[in-house]
Amino acid sequence: MGRFIPLSIPNFEGNERKYVDDAIDQGWVSTGGAYITKLEEEMAKFLHTDNVAACQSGTSALHMSLVECGVKPGDIVLVPPLTFIAAVNPVKYQFAQPIFIDCDDSFCLDPVKLREFCETECSFINGELIYKTNGAKIKAIVVVHVFGNMADMESIMDIAAKYNLKVVEDSTEALGTCYTEGKFAGKYAGTIGDFGAFSFNGNKIITTGGGGAVTANKSATVDHIRFLSTQAKTDPHYYIHDEVGYNYRMTNLQAALGVAQMEELPEFIRRKQANFEKYSKLFENYELAKIIPFRLGTSSNKWFYSLEINRERITTEMREIITRLQDKGIQTRAIWGLINEQKPYLGEVTYKLEKAPYYAERILNIPSSTQITDEEIEYVAAEIKKLFEELDNGKK
Ligand SMILES: *Cc1c(COP(=O)(O)O)cnc(C)c1O
Repeated sequence: MGRFIPLSIPNFEGNERKYVDDAIDQGWVSTGGAYITKLEEEMAKFLHTDNVAACQSGTSALHMSLVECGVKPGDIVLVPPLTFIAAVNPVKYQFAQPIFIDCDDSFCLDPVKLREFCETECSFINGELIYKTNGAKIKAIVVVHVFGNMADMESIMDIAAKYNLKVVEDSTEALGTCYTEGKFAGKYAGTIGDFGAFSFNGNKIITTGGGGAVTANKSATVDHIRFLSTQAKTDPHYYIHDEVGYNYRMTNLQAALGVAQMEELPEFIRRKQANFEKYSKLFENYELAKIIPFRLGTSSNKWFYSLEINRERITTEMREIITRLQDKGIQTRAIWGLINEQKPYLGEVTYKLEKAPYYAERILNIPSSTQITDEEIEYVAAEIKKLFEELDNGKK
């Protein structure tokens, strides 16, 4: 059988070719050009924020955010253990120390444990939060909106305000997710904290091949990021540099793709949301696995769907489940391995990790592309159920 249902692939149904051709015809292919500015404006409009800087990747957007937070060698940044490692690597780029705080049932940072960590493990002296164990300053929190699910930003922002911590929202998976209720109603992921980082990698909800964007609560900070990301050249005629710059700017070719993708974003979100409802129905009251819901009081972009495997009944390794589904033409993947268990992070401090390891062995991501058909969704659900029933330890 030749069928193949991919996990998450890009969708170029719109003006992508037209705009990329146009950029080539104009000869503007590098880090200058009108599509870059256009993409920044479109994103700012969409997010209801006043300034967005397009950059080379989500990783560079996160790195620039930490630079602007003033994270210096030896400082501490509080980070999540259960997410893509790119959310945490920029802490290492700054020679800072990550401390891993557990997630809650949304897979995002647990505000209860965050508060407890600040209260019990740290001292708040002269407006600075100091980690008692080594006397280092805690500068920032990286909050990831995992799979498009909004973290509990109300609680997190309260804690950050109390302890004078910067908040970097890793919104690389959450473009279009917003609050619909509460204090932040109408606010988009990435526009609540001090910084918001976005990614346009190939599997994200919109893509520019590789690319990203960053916003901040101060417009001047975004301007400074734009300046740093283009090598920090201070004079239009002479090569004068007063700061260390980076080559982190998006190219006009990427931005041409991005402008076309932004036009389609509302439709992509609509499809992701509708397909999530279909999967949820198909797994309703199913004993061997359940679809994890998104946070109440928010409208999520529903970028990725998570199936929680009932480990009381199915003990088969993820690797085998994925391979068996692959044989049926269904591409799935395991949620990430814990970052604190990856080689560069062994020996870093962790704080009460319970939910993260629990979900690390239970969550399977299932096909979520915007092109997936109803028939394919039904096939995926049916084949997963067939396999799980075969693997069920509890069967008579
Ligand atoms: C994709 C992703 C990134 C990195 O974005 P790139 O554009 O690939 O550099 C960072 N954090 C999370 C949570 C991501 O999913």
